[in-house]
Parts: sequence; C-alpha cells; structure tokens
Amino acid sequence: MRRYVIAGNWKMNMTPNGAKALINEMKPLVAGKDNCDVVLCVPAIDIPAAVEAAKGSNIKIGAENVHFKASGAYTGEISAEMLCEAGVEYVVIGHSERRQYFGETDQTVNLRTLAALNAGLKAIVCVGETLEQRELGYTETLLKFQTKMALTNVTAEQMKNVIIAYEPVWAIGTGVTATADQADEGNGYVRAAVAEMFGAEVAEATTVQYGGSMNDKNAAELLSKENVDGGLIGGASLKSAAFAAIVEAAQ
Ligand code: PEP
Repeated sequence: MRRYVIAGNWKMNMTPNGAKALINEMKPLVAGKDNCDVVLCVPAIDIPAAVEAAKGSNIKIGAENVHFKASGAYTGEISAEMLCEAGVEYVVIGHSERRQYFGETDQTVNLRTLAALNAGLKAIVCVGETLEQRELGYTETLLKFQTKMALTNVTAEQMKNVIIAYEPVWAIGTGVTATADQADEGNGYVRAAVAEMFGAEVAEATTVQYGGSMNDKNAAELLSKENVDGGLIGGASLKSAAFAAIVEAAQ
C-alpha cells in the first residue's frame, strides 16, 4: 500500500513570524488525519520557526531546494546536511519554477535527488510538461524522460524515500487544474517509468502526487484516482482552511 502525501509548497511566501502563525492555525485542523503524511515545504529562512511551530504535531517540514555538493564555494546554497540538522525531513527538487527561472536541468535535478537521498531526506521530485509539449503530443515521452533522468543511480531501496510530483507546468499557479483523468494519466506515465527502471513492485509502492492548482474544491476528485497518491499544493497551502480541507479529502 502506498502512502498518501499532502505537501504544501509555500514558494517565496511567508516570513518566519508568518510561518509560525500559519502552522499554529493549521495544527489543530490537521491533527489526527493519519491517512496521509502532512508536509509543509517552506522558504529556507522560515525553517527554524516552522520546525519549532510544528513540534508535537503531525506536520512535517520540508525545504524547497537543496544543493548537490556537501559543502564548499557555492554562495547562497544550502546542503542536505544543513537541512537535516535544522530538522527538515522532505525537500522539493526540480520544481518547474526552478527549471524555468533558475537554470535547473534534468541533470542537476538528478544530482540534487541523490544528495538528498544520501543524507536521508525524502525527495519530492517534480516533473511536468509545458502546454506546448502537451499539444505536440510529447507528454508521455517527456514525463518518462524527466522521471528516468531524475532517478538515475537511485537504488531500489532509496525509492522508499522518493515521492514524485506530476505537475503539468500549464496548471501551476494558473487556476487551470488538469482534469482528474489527465492527472491520473500523467501520474500513470510516471509510475510506468518507475516500473521500467525498478520493476512493478517498486512502482506500485511509490507515491506519485499531482500538483497544479489543487484546492479544497477539486482535491477529492483528483485524489480519488487510482494513480494519484497525494498532492503538491502551492496557493492553497497558504490558507489553513483550504489546506486542511485537502488533507481531509485524502482521508
Ligand atoms: C506548486 O507550487 O507546486 C503548485 C502546484 O502550485 P499551485 O497549487 O499554486 O498551482
């Protein structure tokens, strides 16, 4: 049985004080919702406040990026060891905004994934096609390629700590959600790529999230699909009631 994971991605929102306040609001709303893991991936500066605020609750804290080197002359970057010591358990890797604005490539996504896994973090690896790629008919090819590139040199054992988020780029932050069938199909392509690399058993056990304008209104339908094992949620994770409703939908 694979585990549902509902993860918020705050992007560049919330100061440390805001993070504390929002988590304190969310804690009672998601308490006892044990049918899924509840994760908030927050800006690096918010991590200490978020970890402190989440203590004693079922909310786990994630980061939004990790560098692939252990240490060195990489100004502005944060290593996996630093994240672990700060109490982080999850990290988002290869989000389309990092690919689009910060030069992230399939190769660096792979290196970051390996660094995160080797440090014992759970990696939320993002893949997804642009609208142009979808319209050209390359969705399956692209999703399989991105998935396989990201997981190169990952072991079957390490796959226990890998979550893949299928996020069609055209649905992120746009208010346009993929239909439940499109989400199921995309997640199915991702799972098929995992099966081609690691076999059917590992693929069946891998959590594949959908992300892209998931909210309190559409979550139940999306999460009802066979291949949708949770969500990576941007905008709606900044509102306690909406995020809690998505967690509830995963029950
Ligand atoms: C995201 O940031 O991964 C995301 C899916 O954003 P939104 O829910 O706002 O579309």
